Amino acid sequence: MGDGPLGERNIMKTPDTIPNWINGKECEALEGRSFEKINPTDGSVLFKVTRSYKAEINVAVESAKNSQSEWAAVPPVKRGLILHDIVMSMIKRKNDIAEIVHKETGKSIKDALGETGGAVECGLFYASEGQRLYGRTTTSGVPNKYASTIRQPVGVAGLIIAANTPIANVVWKVFPALVCGNTAVLKSAEDTPATAWAFGQIAHEAGIPPGVLNIVQGYGEEAGTPLVKHPDVGVISFTGSTEVGRFIQQKTGERLAKVSLELGGKNPLVVCDDADLNNAANWVLLSAFSNAGQRCASGSRIIVFESIYDSFVKTLIKKTRELKVGDTNDDDLGPLINETQLNNMLSYITKAKNEGATILFGGKRLTDEKHRNGFYLEPTLIENVDPKAEISQCEVFGPIACLYRVNNYKEALDLANESSYGLTGCIHTKNFDRANHFIQNLQAGVVVVNAGTFGSEPHMPFGGVKQSGNGTREPGTEAINIYSNLKDVYINISNIVS
Ligand code: NAD
Repeated sequence: MGDGPLGERNIMKTPDTIPNWINGKECEALEGRSFEKINPTDGSVLFKVTRSYKAEINVAVESAKNSQSEWAAVPPVKRGLILHDIVMSMIKRKNDIAEIVHKETGKSIKDALGETGGAVECGLFYASEGQRLYGRTTTSGVPNKYASTIRQPVGVAGLIIAANTPIANVVWKVFPALVCGNTAVLKSAEDTPATAWAFGQIAHEAGIPPGVLNIVQGYGEEAGTPLVKHPDVGVISFTGSTEVGRFIQQKTGERLAKVSLELGGKNPLVVCDDADLNNAANWVLLSAFSNAGQRCASGSRIIVFESIYDSFVKTLIKKTRELKVGDTNDDDLGPLINETQLNNMLSYITKAKNEGATILFGGKRLTDEKHRNGFYLEPTLIENVDPKAEISQCEVFGPIACLYRVNNYKEALDLANESSYGLTGCIHTKNFDRANHFIQNLQAGVVVVNAGTFGSEPHMPFGGVKQSGNGTREPGTEAINIYSNLKDVYINISNIVS
């Protein structure tokens, strides 16, 4: 299936209604409820999606709970080998996966394949983690006593994800949860149901035992909330907005469940007067507009030294004008994931304009023949906005970047930190001292020098400070701390020498 070169169309057949995966079987909602998944490139109905509620969540959690002790008894190395088989199957079917991601999100096949490659790297890393899952041996203050730690699964993991990079988001959570010996219920993103379904098919074909990975389709409040509140779910891992993250923190707090929150960002990219301006402009475009700005790590606040501002902005506008919007491999950015998101972008822009902002480029829905039925927004550059205004402070999650003028490095750093978020940030400079000061003093979970505001590599711990998260880190080995509990072990022996 689908093992051909880039762009080969050989799609895994998606069902008319995308089902749940519960206890190793595909099933629809108890009363046959469904909703429609809309194609973001042309507004047509792609397929129907099973609409799950509390009843379906209860069945999925029951299935995960019943399978957990058996799965935990599989040695971690063997669990890793089963996960490795899933990765091998993903590699073999990478074109199928990319085709589904492309179809659901409207991003190009090329970008969908890149995302699938990232998911494969992440899966490989965690499959090998079955050979590590390190505890610690250490010293004791008491004679003939030996202290160490071992790792144990939490139990049932509830996984809730966003739609922006659907296959990467699935893998990022499922693999560390399972390698640690948990079973899982994944609440798929409502805008990318088929990607999660396809992963379920690949995982089951590769030999994941029934009940170990359950995938439930549905909306956040209807299917996500019952999962968050379920007393048998020991850990919730969530990737999504800060608003929903705050709700999840409260609900899991009531029953003291473990929780990992990977939330939003309003990420600064600073361009100093000594930067390579062409390189900086290229990275601004990638940071702000790749994946149509639907990235928690997108660079949405571009902070530029006054002395180079005018020439830099001129270059930036010229390069932005050259960007192509559409869903083919020749395009640079695709549509927003749904029409509501597109309308949200347009109202952010209108409000900013009413408050005195200048739209340097873009700002409108694309209405020409090719784009008019899709959810396409022009890549948008805005200036003359107050750093305290809504568009400066709220994560918009679309292809919109605001530009700010600063007189010196100190003003740039202060402005970069003037945000309730703290996910990523980047500085462009050739000055070693500035770069290092920025590394130390930016309030963020990730800092980059001379490139873009991007997420981390799969073996590195990603996450934010302030309202970008709750301090946990995923993926990397650090994610293991979310999905396992440490147990202290003390062994006391008799003194056989005396
Ligand atoms: P969202 O918070 O609206 O939804 C995310 C997921 O949560 C979806 O599956 C949704 O169905 C579910 N959900 C919504 N309400 C819920 C509720 N009351 N209870 C339980 N589940 C609920 O976010 P979105 O608009 O789909 O995604 C964009 C957001 O995700 C942005 O804020 C972005 O920054 C963030 N994000 C963060 C990271 C990261 O690693 N930090 C990565 C990708 C996206």
